[in-house]
Amino acid sequence: MEGIMSGGVERNPDALDLARAAYRDISLYAPDRTPCAVDVSDNTNLFGVPPAVTRALASVDSAAVTRYPSLYAADLKGALARYAGVRPEEIVTGCGSDDVLDSAIRAFSTPGQAIAYPDPTFAMIPIFARMNGLTAMPVPLREDFDLDVDALLATSARIIYLCSPNNPTATAASVAAIKRVLAGASGLVILDEAYAEFHGAEFIGAAPAYPRLLVTRTLSKAFGLAGLRVGYAAGNAALVAEVEKSRGPYKVNGLAERAALAALTDGLVWSRARVQEVIVNRARFVEALRGRGLSALPSAANFVLVPVQDANAIATAMRKGGVAVRPFPALPRIGDALRITIGPWPMMETVLARLAETQR
Ligand code: PMP
Repeated sequence: MEGIMSGGVERNPDALDLARAAYRDISLYAPDRTPCAVDVSDNTNLFGVPPAVTRALASVDSAAVTRYPSLYAADLKGALARYAGVRPEEIVTGCGSDDVLDSAIRAFSTPGQAIAYPDPTFAMIPIFARMNGLTAMPVPLREDFDLDVDALLATSARIIYLCSPNNPTATAASVAAIKRVLAGASGLVILDEAYAEFHGAEFIGAAPAYPRLLVTRTLSKAFGLAGLRVGYAAGNAALVAEVEKSRGPYKVNGLAERAALAALTDGLVWSRARVQEVIVNRARFVEALRGRGLSALPSAANFVLVPVQDANAIATAMRKGGVAVRPFPALPRIGDALRITIGPWPMMETVLARLAETQR
């Protein structure tokens, strides 16, 4: 057993031949996640968990563990539909929005087709493209960080992925640009609204009115449930049904379903208050950066992107000082940059102090 576990990869060169050819160049998602005293690297909710969720998990019944969860998360769909302003049959859930994105890509494309997306954007999209045998077609963002609609449409890609507010730039796409993509696309349009709560403008409520639009969301950011993995999408009921086929049953586990229900009911007031706090601290942090000669891109999310000289070197130095930020070397149009999640103000002061030390 030991030999199989530890030496399995080296002793089985056939594995590469046995697996899909497109998987040869996939490496596992591996950002530096070494524990750090202050971790502002992953855009999660740095204020913690809604107290209503802690209570719900503390009083969980054993059936949540011993029995299978509901097949397609019917109760959760009801709560999400109320939250998003759509009908329950217009919602599909998943094990994080990663799972919903991957399932949607699989449902609406076949290997050999293409997926177009703004560059830079969410790092998992090119990986999902490979996992599903698709050709990745990155389209640089415009100089003002809005979508290059003509270039996206010119790809004639089977799927166009948009992300607003966009990770890692934090910038929002204009409503006009998104509508132009929707009017001109010949395949599916996925609009990733993982950070929409921090922006205000959103498409999710209107999603079912567009026959080729799927809007994805997550409970990992504004709701503080990243560890429980709950994501969802809204769209026309017929579109959503196709994603559900590709997603399969039992993807939201029993504990996560109960926690998500609590977050969307008794936890809503807490989450909304934290979102407001993030927005206030974001403005204050950007102002403090400016005072230190750094400028962030205009942020509509719970993080900021700060162009710097040598992102890797600064991130390594900050890590040594107990602060984890996410370095992005050589981003198109931007160059090197640090992505910093916004949290409680004392935490942001520590980040500023460590950052200042690297700038001396
Ligand atoms: N979309 C975007 C834009 C993200 O930044 C993330 C998380 N980093 C996700 C989707 C996935 O989130 P989750 O799987 O936790 O719902």
